[in-house]
Amino acid sequence: MATDYDAPRKSDDDSESIEALKERVPDKLSGAVDVEDADNPGGFDLPGADLSDLDLDVVVLPPQADEFTCVECFLVKHRSLIDHETKLGAICVECAA
Ligand SMILES: [Zn+2]
Repeated sequence: MATDYDAPRKSDDDSESIEALKERVPDKLSGAVDVEDADNPGGFDLPGADLSDLDLDVVVLPPQADEFTCVECFLVKHRSLIDHETKLGAICVECAA
């Protein structure tokens, strides 16, 4: 008699919940898309804030008067190590070799 007890309950619950979902889903989806699009731009601001902290750790000094930045290896070197100048900038003797 246990099967007779379960069968009527299951069919009643399923038919009610499925009908309710079918009516609600279309309205919920159309409304949710607009809300998510509006929220997403604000959510991307947090990763950008973390990157600003990384910049504080890496201190980039501009080349001194007697130094230059090689356009090939991007290392700052003494001007005596310039092999030749290009339109983009100076190239050190190591990169020119
Ligand atoms: Zn170089």
